[in-house]
Parts: sequence; structure tokens; C-alpha cells
Amino acid sequence: MIIDGKKVSDKIKSELKNKVYKLKEGGIVPGLAVILVGNNPASKIYVKNKQKACEEIGIQSRQYLLDEKTSQKDLLELIEHLNKSTQTHGILVQLPLPSHIDEFTVAQAINAEKDVDCFNASNVGKLILDKSNLLPCTPAGIIELLKRYHIQIQGKNCTIVGRSNIVGKPLALMMLKENSTVTICHSKTLELENFCRQADILISAVGKQKTIKADMVKPKATVIDVGINRNSEGKICGDVDFSGVFPKAGFITPVPGGVGPMTIAMLMKNVICAAELHLSSPLD
Ligand code: NAP
Repeated sequence: MIIDGKKVSDKIKSELKNKVYKLKEGGIVPGLAVILVGNNPASKIYVKNKQKACEEIGIQSRQYLLDEKTSQKDLLELIEHLNKSTQTHGILVQLPLPSHIDEFTVAQAINAEKDVDCFNASNVGKLILDKSNLLPCTPAGIIELLKRYHIQIQGKNCTIVGRSNIVGKPLALMMLKENSTVTICHSKTLELENFCRQADILISAVGKQKTIKADMVKPKATVIDVGINRNSEGKICGDVDFSGVFPKAGFITPVPGGVGPMTIAMLMKNVICAAELHLSSPLD
């Protein structure tokens, strides 16, 4: 069965619309500031998609499109200004940043309560301690998909291929919280196939097409494809050899239309959560 991330994300966005409506009744218009430094074409598309989602559900989105040569100091000053703004509940700095800007320093500069990507150390620490209000968007989107398709997580073997700070590591923590038995694989893992074949839930976040082939998948397993790649024809594809794996898997996400739309829906959820937190304890 194909897991339709687009359909689920549309449903979530319509649920979030009601929350935005209630916030507006209370005098709060949820606001997201999106900062893009430079002209990376993929980043431009991501920023546009995020703005479109904001418009759909009534979040006020403000874009800050900065020149490639913007200094780190100027970027940090803008973040500081947005940290203080009562109209801005979420701040997102689109990655990757130009090489003269340090991503860690930038993530740390964002007020933890406005860190809707959940990248700063305070929010990562809270995630480990199960104390976070804001959850990293892509991992949260994956867990939401599993739950909405009633795919059991508790007690299941989950293999995650990829250990990035954005996807693999936080996802492992969150799947652990859901009581699955988690294995994390990476580029130095020996005999990757064996770990993949043990998985009831196999998640690939590598960024290389055809990393996961049919002979690596347990029959009836759930296969979640996070990867976004381009094939030889220039078309978007995931990490999973979809046509080979589809007949063997129980559930599978397509690319596009699987995890991607869920990431944006979860970002919207975080902005609303940040606005609700602001309502209960205003920063200023
Ligand atoms: P990343 O930071 O480049 O991490 C890739 C991970 O894959 C690393 O841990 C790396 O291992 C591992 N890896 C590389 N080659 C491997 C191999 N042959 N076998 C096993 N593991 C291997 O990437 P990321 O930011 O996590 O993103 C991964 C993919 O997901 C990309 O295609 C990205 O565009 C996509 N993505 C999609 C969404 C979405 O919303 N759909 C969101 C975020 C990312 P080492 O640690 O050993 O180097």
C-alpha cells in the first residue's frame, strides 16, 4: 500500500487552520520568519513551498532574502531582531548556508521557543529528555504518517539508514520513545543489507538513489523514503528502488508525495505551537 503523504498533510493543514482561527480570535496571528541567504535553487523552492503552506492555513509568513555575501554578524543581528519581535513566533533559517557562515552559531542564536526547525542545542537536549514542545519536522512527519496509517511502532524493529542531526539522530530518539527497537546505520556500517532485512520499519535518509533494493527489505515491511535525489532523467526520486521494493513492502512512501509534504505540515504545526506558547507566556 502506498502511503499518501500529500493527502495526510492536506488533512493536517486543514486541522491546523482551525487552530489558527482560534488563535486569531484571541488576538494572535501566528507569524513565521523565513531567512534565505544566497540563491541555492533547491532552497528557493523549499522556501516558496513553506510560504505557500503558510498562506493556505493563515499563518503570516515573512521572507528575508539575503545576499550570498551577507556577513554572519548581519545575519545574527537580523535573528536577534526577530527574537524580540512579538509578531514572529517561529524563525527558520534555510540550510545550507554559505560556507563563511557557521550553521551551529546561527541555530544557537535563534530563541529556543521560536526554533521551529528544532535545531538548536536546547531543543535537541529537550528532545533527549522528552521535554520538548517543538519537534524536528521531518522525523515528526514520519511518525505522524505511521500513526495515521495505524502502523504499529511499539515492539517493532526499526532500522534507520542515515545519522544526520536533521533526520537520522532525532528520528532514532523519537522512534525509541514510541517503543520500537532502533538500529541506526551509516556509511561505515558493515553489511547494511542484514540490518535492513531485520526491519519491520525501514527508513532511509541517505540522499543516494537506489540505496535500498528489494533484496534488502523484509516481506511486508513498512518502507519510508526520506531521500530527495535526481535520477539520470533529472526527475526527483528517493533512496529506495521504488519499482523493485513496492511489490515486497507492506507499506511504502513515494518520492515525491511521501515524507516531503509531511515535513512542511509539521513545520506549520510547530509555528502554531510556538504561537500558543507565546499566548500562555508572552516573551515581551
Ligand atoms: P546527510 O546529512 O548527508 O546524511 C546522510 C546520511 O547517510 C549520513 O549519516 C551518511 O553516513 C549516510 N550514508 C551515506 N551514504 C551511505 C551509504 N552508502 N550507506 C549507508 N549510509 C550512508 O543528509 P540528510 O540531511 O539527513 O538528508 C538525507 C536525505 O534526505 C537527502 O536526500 C535530503 O535531501 C533528504 N531530506 C528530505 C527531507 C524531506 O522532507 N523529505 C528532509 C530532510 C532531508 P555518515 O554519517 O557515515 O556520513
